[in-house]
Amino acid sequence: AMPMAVMVGTGLGARHGILIKNASALEEATKLNVVIFDKTGTLTMGEPRVVAVVPADGVTTDELLTLAASAEQSSEHPLARAILERAKNLPLTRPEGFRNHDGMGAVATIGGQRVLIGNRKLMESENVGIGELGDRARELQGAGRTVVHVARGNALVGLIAIADAPRPTSKATIARLHERGVQVAMLTGDNRGTAERVAAELGIDIVLADVLPGQKADKVRELQAQGKKVGMVGDGVNDAPALTQADVGFAIGAGTDVAMESADVVLMKSDPLDVVKAIEISRATYRKMH
Ligand code: ADP
Ligand code: MG
Repeated sequence: AMPMAVMVGTGLGARHGILIKNASALEEATKLNVVIFDKTGTLTMGEPRVVAVVPADGVTTDELLTLAASAEQSSEHPLARAILERAKNLPLTRPEGFRNHDGMGAVATIGGQRVLIGNRKLMESENVGIGELGDRARELQGAGRTVVHVARGNALVGLIAIADAPRPTSKATIARLHERGVQVAMLTGDNRGTAERVAAELGIDIVLADVLPGQKADKVRELQAQGKKVGMVGDGVNDAPALTQADVGFAIGAGTDVAMESADVVLMKSDPLDVVKAIEISRATYRKMH
């Protein structure tokens, strides 16, 4: 049977919209020395929007947006939704073929031509040179934007810069974890330039960037191998293995069902600060018991 204090602790959590699924998670949460946050949708709002469109020489803004949005019609990625929103008044073409490249982007065939859309790694793997737009891409990433590259055949046709604002409480969450002696890491499939900028803004200690979906759990394991007790906070399908691997997995309630099933704790209000609250409740619970 659950000790009385544990029932009180889980009940207190529930009243704050913090669903602690098992008693061992409550105890493990007292010992965490590092908490890893997924970037997109966890530390950020997960509501990306297009903030700059940079066509290559000889390409118009509308041409670039039409091509990008046509390709992204078959994608469910949040970045695809932002591009479609920006192109909503343009006539789109249905892609004849579409294939996701996990953690990098997608390839589509449009009007008989091969279109690539995604990050720099995707362009490199398909031998598309970035050329003179490279400086602009780095500048946008340095400002915390995610840069989507668009190529037709082997030629880059332009860049689309996307911003996703941090959640209002993200910065305070990190400060309060520091006050409690907990280190904070950020895990993302996004590129290092963008990730470093967002991390600096929020006060993150460890930046794990350019991580493919299949490698997220490995990153948790690596920190555990250094003797750390690791909490992981995420929202997406590809966060699920990392949430399971962590000593305590926290799912953002507004995220996917898969993430919620894999987590030990569900944050119903989707507020990162509730990670701090959960740790406080767990510490208070076990102080009473010992
Ligand atoms: P996250 O950690 O934010 O969930 P993902 O693993 O989904 O990241 O994607 C990693 C990177 O791959 C994105 O930052 C983006 O640059 C690129 N990418 C993935 N899917 C797409 C897409 N459909 N369109 C454009 N870019 C994409
Ligand atoms: Mg995410």
